[in-house]
Amino acid sequence: EAKTTGKNRASQFQPEMASSFKRRTELENEMREGLGSGQFEVHYQPIVEIASRRVVALEALLRWNHPAKGRISPAEFIPIAERSDLISDLGEWVLRSAAADIVRLPSEVSVSINVSPMQFRQPGRLVAAIRSIIEDRHVPAERLELELTESVLVDDTEQTLATMAELRALGVRFSLDDFGTGYASIGYLATYSFDKVKIDRSFASVILENDASRSIVELVQHLAERIGFTVVAEGLESQVQVEAIAATGICLAQGYFFGRPEPIGPLAKRLAVSTVISED
Ligand code: C2E
Ligand code: MG
Ligand code: MG
Ligand code: MG
Repeated sequence: EAKTTGKNRASQFQPEMASSFKRRTELENEMREGLGSGQFEVHYQPIVEIASRRVVALEALLRWNHPAKGRISPAEFIPIAERSDLISDLGEWVLRSAAADIVRLPSEVSVSINVSPMQFRQPGRLVAAIRSIIEDRHVPAERLELELTESVLVDDTEQTLATMAELRALGVRFSLDDFGTGYASIGYLATYSFDKVKIDRSFASVILENDASRSIVELVQHLAERIGFTVVAEGLESQVQVEAIAATGICLAQGYFFGRPEPIGPLAKRLAVSTVISED
């Protein structure tokens, strides 16, 4: 798994390669520094309507270009930030970056931002940060989507529901990220209301391999039609995966097949010409 090189190495980081105590301590200190000195960057990956190839949203994905250690994967540094007080600073930096970038995009393209469970545990601060980019920076709230992971939902249901209601009142939308991998049960789809549910990318490959996995994906799409949310299939890398997902009735997808995360500049330029992804 680890014998990849260059550009792709960062994305190959696996949680079980948990960094050593020494590296974690270094990264934590250097993150603080890096945030103030332009080492972080937001890349955006398209979320596409499968049938039309039209880009409906972009997911903001944080990148850290460490001056000595090179590109460090968010799968490594986000958990470190979550164990310190840095995650809210990082999260707010992403929000402000996205607020600046969203004005460069066609109005039919939303921006989707990952929110850490730790940010949800400081609801006052989170709501203030989001209110600020909507009210002070005039970001249209309906073009802002917040991606929550299942771990937020198992925390403190009452508090989470209250925070979501407060944010919803501002006009933002919610996606449930990485569905099907965590602790959350299907019951959470009834307790919380999500605009989108993103099926974890581990399903992209197994759906081709066994009927049970395909049935689970079909069940989620069926629930979506009944309950009223939209399913996004994550991590699609090939045409056959796209076809298998489309056959379940799922309309939205994200993955290397449609486009990798990239800086806003070139992406905004292409989207200004057309929001339809070209075939090559
Ligand atoms: P995520 O939110 O589930 O984001 C999707 C991840 O899957 C991204 O990894 C993306 O580059 C990767 N991906 C997309 N399509 C494909 C594909 O076709 N194949 C494969 N193998 N991977 C694909 P990335 O950018 O490394 O981010 C990893 C995780 O780090 C994210 O998972 C998210 O949980 C977290 N993260 C990233 N940016 C932020 C942020 O600003 N705030 C917070 N709290 N978490 C973030
Ligand atoms: Mg996400
Ligand atoms: Mg995801
Ligand atoms: Mg994830």
